[in-house]
Amino acid sequence: MIYPVSILLGEILYIITLLFRQIQYQDCFLRQKIDNFGRMVFKVLIIEDEPALQETLKLNLELEGYHVETLSTGLNAISYIRSFSPDLILLDIMLPVLSGTEIYKELKEQRISIPVIFLTAKDDVKDKIEGLKLGADDYITKPFDLEELLLRVNIVLKRHKSPMATDVFNFGKCEINFSTFEVKTISGTIETISKREMALLKLLIDHLNHVVSRDEILDKLWTKEESPSSRTIDNFILNFRKWFEVNPKEPVHFYSIRGIGYKFVPGS
Ligand code: CA
Repeated sequence: MIYPVSILLGEILYIITLLFRQIQYQDCFLRQKIDNFGRMVFKVLIIEDEPALQETLKLNLELEGYHVETLSTGLNAISYIRSFSPDLILLDIMLPVLSGTEIYKELKEQRISIPVIFLTAKDDVKDKIEGLKLGADDYITKPFDLEELLLRVNIVLKRHKSPMATDVFNFGKCEINFSTFEVKTISGTIETISKREMALLKLLIDHLNHVVSRDEILDKLWTKEESPSSRTIDNFILNFRKWFEVNPKEPVHFYSIRGIGYKFVPGS
C-alpha cells in the first residue's frame, strides 16, 4: 500500500516535534539539576480559586516541565507550602478563607522565603500596591497572556535560583558556598562536602529556626527506591557539628529534636 505523501510528511513532522520537545526537556532537567542540588524539576504551587484558570495554568506550566500542585483556598495554605516546599508560588489575591496578601504576610512572618507572583484582578490597583509594598516578586493582572505569565515565572525563578547556585551563606565565622560545595569551618579550614550533605544544609537553612522532620529530609534527599539507614542523617548532622560548632557535644547551631527531626539556628 502506498502512503499518501502528505500523511507521511505529517508523521515525520510529528516525530521531529516530539524529538525536539524531548531535547528541550532534557536540557531543562540538566540545568535544574545543577541549580537545584538534585531536585529534578522546579516546583510551582498555584493558589487560585477559579477552576478554569487554575486548570489552564497547571496544564501550561506542566507542559513547560514544571511540577505543579494546586490549592483552591487559603485554608491550610501555609502547612501545605511547608510540606510541598515549592520554588515559586502563583498566588491569587481574592481567595476564600485566607486572602493572598494574608498568606503572603504569614509566609514573611514565618521567614519562609519562596518567590511569589501575585495574580490580581484587573482594576485592583490597591491590591497591586499592597502586594508590592509587602515585597512580592512580581504581579500579573487578570486576564493575562499565558506566554507573558510563563516568561515571568521563568524570570522570577532565574532571579532566585541563579544567585542561590553561586551564593555564599555566612553564620558566625563559618561559610557555606553552594556553588563550589565547599564550607569554611569554625577552625578556618576549607572542607569539600558531598552533594547530599549540601542538600541537607540547604534544606535546614531554608527552614531557618524551624524543625525539619526526618520524613521530610528522607523524602527530599532520597528517592523512594533508596533506603538510607536511619543513622545516615545523624552522621550528616555529626559532621555539621564537627565543622561548624565550637563544641560539637553542646551544639548551638545544629539541633536534633528526638523523634521529630532537626533544626538549624544561625545565631546572632
Ligand atoms: Ca479569586
